[in-house]
Amino acid sequence: MKVTKNPSLKAFNTFRVEASAGLMLTLETEEDLLSLPPFDPGKDFILGGGSNVLFATDVPGTLFHNRISGREIVKTGDDHAWVEAGAGENWHELVRWTLKNKLSGLENLSLIPGLAGAAPIQNIGAYGVELATVLESVTAWDLVRSTWKMFSREDCGLAYRDSRFKAAEPDRYLITSIRLRLDRHYKPQLEYAGLREELSRLNIRHPTAIEVSDAVIRLRQHKLPDPATSGNAGSFFKNPVLKRDESEALLARFPELPAWPLDDGTIKLSAAWMIEHCGLKGYRTGDAGISDRHALVIVNHGSATGGEILQLVRTIQSTVHDTFGVMLEPEPRIVDFSIDLPT
Ligand SMILES: Cc1cc2nc3c(=O)[nH]c(=O)nc-3n(C[C@H](O)[C@H](O)[C@H](O)COP(=O)(O)OP(=O)(O)OC[C@H]3O[C@@H](n4cnc5c(N)ncnc54)[C@H](O)[C@@H]3O)c2cc1C
Repeated sequence: MKVTKNPSLKAFNTFRVEASAGLMLTLETEEDLLSLPPFDPGKDFILGGGSNVLFATDVPGTLFHNRISGREIVKTGDDHAWVEAGAGENWHELVRWTLKNKLSGLENLSLIPGLAGAAPIQNIGAYGVELATVLESVTAWDLVRSTWKMFSREDCGLAYRDSRFKAAEPDRYLITSIRLRLDRHYKPQLEYAGLREELSRLNIRHPTAIEVSDAVIRLRQHKLPDPATSGNAGSFFKNPVLKRDESEALLARFPELPAWPLDDGTIKLSAAWMIEHCGLKGYRTGDAGISDRHALVIVNHGSATGGEILQLVRTIQSTVHDTFGVMLEPEPRIVDFSIDLPT
């Protein structure tokens, strides 16, 4: 285990905001867990690739930085193969490695930044696919009881950009590996219209999984600002999900608001459209701004602080709330140790 005192976290978060931690413990093997100090949610934090966090304050205590690596095909059947990946594996490299091994299921999730261990936290999703479709189980270290715990997919409580690890029991389990059930015979998942259009633009009628992955990479590179040049955490707000009668009332006032009915009778509405309708796309205050390419993406144009970005987040939330009566929920974890936790 590597121990670093007072590290700068600027290089460890894709918003590229300056923050520090009292101590950083870089976990490289499962044995490292056995000698961990107690985790205090009031001052400690677990970090993966830092692509879904906003450091609004420093981390006063210890940052548990999970870099436990390793990836392996652990079982092969007629139709499926099971892959086990350490939490510290780079997600996109894992996706490409599975494709090289002629296993499909992750291609639509290509180029999502971050590490494998964080993928279940918000049930990552893109281009019509969510982790939930392939996740078999999660192994984690229980930071309260100091024991191993295994979660089946059902135990993980996966939902739209959510899981038990994010909402119900944040900071309790340090995920050490995930197990995925992948397909040995490719079944394209092309429900997302933009992806079908990209493939037909390239005259690809019967795409391979690698061709779909390549198309997703091109679409993402075109659509999303690259954190290497413009700090960001991808989509900052979740699409709000409303009860049918509430959405119908809103849609009567804003008939052009994109809406997607869900299986449980609720309706998902486009947060990007709401932000754009409020005239905020491309809005900038100091170095904190909203991308002019994608209204859901908040960007650090240079030296914005986490606090300044959080201020912009609050402005967007209140403007959208005043116009639509809907409170947008942030997708990334806002790290703010200035707020007292309930005891
Ligand atoms: C340009 C860009 C595009 C993106 N596109 C998408 C997208 O299409 N779909 C999508 O779903 N997300 C997207 N994201 C968000 C992000 O990439 C994912 O949520 C990713 O899974 C976060 O991984 P991470 O390792 O960076 O997690 P971090 O940002 O380090 O952590 C995120 C949360 O998970 C917790 N955590 C991290 N690792 C562990 C662990 N091992 N055990 C327990 N808790 C842990 C942290 O405490 C934190 O609460 C995007 C981000 C960027 C910057």
